[in-house]
Amino acid sequence: MSKVNREEIISFLDDYNKDDITIATLGSHTSMHILKGAKEEGFKTAVVCEKGRDIPYKRFRVADEYIIIDKFSEINSEEVQQKLRDLNSIVVPHGSFVAYAGLDNIETIFNVPMFGNRDILRWEAERDLERKLMTESGIRIPQKYKNHRQIDGTVMVKFPGARGGKGYFVASSPEEFDETIAAMLHRGWIEEEDIKSAHIEEYVSGCNYCIHFFYSALKDEVELLGMDSRYESNIDGLVRIPAKDQLDIGLNPSYVITGNHPVVMRESLLPQVFDIGDQLVEGAKKLVPPGMNGPFCLQTLVNDDLEVIVFEMSARIDGGTNTFMHASAYSYLLFGEFMSMGRRIAREIKSGKEEDSLDKVIT
Ligand code: ADP
Repeated sequence: MSKVNREEIISFLDDYNKDDITIATLGSHTSMHILKGAKEEGFKTAVVCEKGRDIPYKRFRVADEYIIIDKFSEINSEEVQQKLRDLNSIVVPHGSFVAYAGLDNIETIFNVPMFGNRDILRWEAERDLERKLMTESGIRIPQKYKNHRQIDGTVMVKFPGARGGKGYFVASSPEEFDETIAAMLHRGWIEEEDIKSAHIEEYVSGCNYCIHFFYSALKDEVELLGMDSRYESNIDGLVRIPAKDQLDIGLNPSYVITGNHPVVMRESLLPQVFDIGDQLVEGAKKLVPPGMNGPFCLQTLVNDDLEVIVFEMSARIDGGTNTFMHASAYSYLLFGEFMSMGRRIAREIKSGKEEDSLDKVIT
């Protein structure tokens, strides 16, 4: 199927009443501060919401319009797309939007102007593309092992698909890898065919910082807007059990995200943080034009050599931005007012409108 046609998207945008733009998104993930931020910048807002899941938007009064659908995936239907265009909508993609609408559909049939670069979403979803983008941008990522026989230190083993860290495990030798795989097969956690797609990488022992950047294509500047650290089940519960009991109960760790803490980094690490953000933006411009427009997130671990090592990237707004629906330490430094990632997106759209260059920030 052919890709969404840029000329067609631009022609929809040309037909929009620019004084009556709606900022719309799917009701999940980071939609509350996307919508709230849009309102703060003077836009109308719309939420595409699965039946029965409208309560937060109503109770927090963040949406002006509700497009209620039976299933999230119906956001792709021609009827919903038409409703969105009739509202002069610019859609903000987030993690749940990508998961429910589906990457293929976003690339081929979702014909509504979208904030940011829709082509870059695939680069975060496919591990090889993600690694290519980070390596070619010159970013330090965990070393990858070709196969389990090469394991010569502590490694983290990951399986593909949206498992949210479920079934990830740590091993320190080929034998330990084999033992854990056998136990997982026995418990039915993985299938025989999953084994060959196991991704084995260096285990980075350090502290977790997920860094939220915004690249303004209009100003050609990378902004640091916030940081969070993940609260993951059951690993964060496991570490509250004394070590000797941990061994007794024999629970396997999992890394399923359940929430986020706001965090700040040691100030002397910030030059590294800006370098990494700038490098990724430059790399993305070359590999996936027009680049990393808008929000992106680098999930990092900082080791005791004070190296910032990136193990994962989001090429769109990341869930950890929910830790600053008002302001983070960094967004306050930069803006001196309440500035969430949602509001930052809306402000970019507003600047695009005022400078008559909305086409630079949408695809
Ligand atoms: P998912 O995207 O499926 O949620 P992630 O790649 O974000 O999975 O990893 C889940 C968690 O596993 C991370 O938050 C971190 O705690 C841990 N983790 C991931 N990669 C590494 C690594 N290379 N070294 C140490 N811990 C890691």
